[in-house]
Amino acid sequence: MLASQIERPPLIDPFRRQITYLRVSVTDRCDFRCVYCMAEDMNFLPKKELLSLEELDRLCAAFIERGVKKLRLTGGEPLVRRDLMSLIRSLSRHLASGTLEELTLTTNGSQLHRFARELADAGVRRINVSVDTLDPDKFKAITRRGDLEQVLRGIKVAQAAGIRIKINAVALKDINEDEIDAMITWAHGEGMDLTLIETMPLGDIDMDRTDQFLPLSLVRRRLAERWTLNPLPLRTGGPASYIEVAETGGRLGFITPLTHNFCESCNRVRVTCTGTLFMCLGQEDSVDLRTPLRSSESDASLHEAIERAIAHKPKGHDFVIERRGARPAVGRHMSVTGG
Ligand code: SAM
Ligand code: SF4
Repeated sequence: MLASQIERPPLIDPFRRQITYLRVSVTDRCDFRCVYCMAEDMNFLPKKELLSLEELDRLCAAFIERGVKKLRLTGGEPLVRRDLMSLIRSLSRHLASGTLEELTLTTNGSQLHRFARELADAGVRRINVSVDTLDPDKFKAITRRGDLEQVLRGIKVAQAAGIRIKINAVALKDINEDEIDAMITWAHGEGMDLTLIETMPLGDIDMDRTDQFLPLSLVRRRLAERWTLNPLPLRTGGPASYIEVAETGGRLGFITPLTHNFCESCNRVRVTCTGTLFMCLGQEDSVDLRTPLRSSESDASLHEAIERAIAHKPKGHDFVIERRGARPAVGRHMSVTGG
């Protein structure tokens, strides 16, 4: 039998969870430096460390062959990776064949006005765009360099191209906590879901994490005083829970990795831009996929490495932000693992 004809089994971990969702960070670079994500002076990885677009394509294809149905490209900022659209066009073959159900992206939106139409043409139907504030000056301060107007323009272009948008906003104490009502009104008014994210202790940044941490349980209690919040049964296998805001008819998500346990239904793994597979966002356990990718043109050792990794997917994570000034629970930045 030819290697390409071998039927490989789906990826099922020791806790009987099937892996159907892959997030791939295509670059650690970004045109922003969000205060909760990066330090001002970041040392980015040398190019040779990164998987090439061809290697990323092979890697994604291997996971899709093993039953991954949803693929999310992230970063760093995915749309600053040169020629990313060639990877997206190539990956869209799996959408056309029906083996992949969704190809999507998490982006800061800065380049969306340039690429939205091509994304739509490649079969991208939904994307997540991160917007933490609607105040241009605050936006510049949080991102340390972003232009809110350009991001909002990108969102409009994407919507006009038929792409559905979900807004991600990191809830930040004293920074945007007074804006959450306005964000709901705006996002839902524009036909977009809004998801609030609790800060996670990933990677060293320039400030103390406890200064930024705003528990979403508190945000939710405050929102309930002004809005009618109807819980929705929707679970995605990830850390988000959703409600419907009766007054707007829109959906509001809460991503609370620190205060809630969602691990029992976890269906996802993450690959960094260097080809390191992390089985859990909150654990250091990883398996190197770059060596098997580079050592042979055949995918046999790549599949072996993936199987070895999935056999070690941990049951759950153990994040904590407890002591002031404590080291991050996980040393790598979110921009390396991908959000
Ligand atoms: N650059 C893209 C963006 O900002 O959407 C994609 C990568 S970014 C790492 C993915 C998501 O992670 C963003 O929504 C961002 O706000 C979020 N994020 C980054 N660092 C975080 C942290 N320490 N805690 C919680 N969310 C974080
Ligand atoms: Fe860049 Fe996204 Fe991190 Fe902000 S959150 S610095 S946009 S990777």
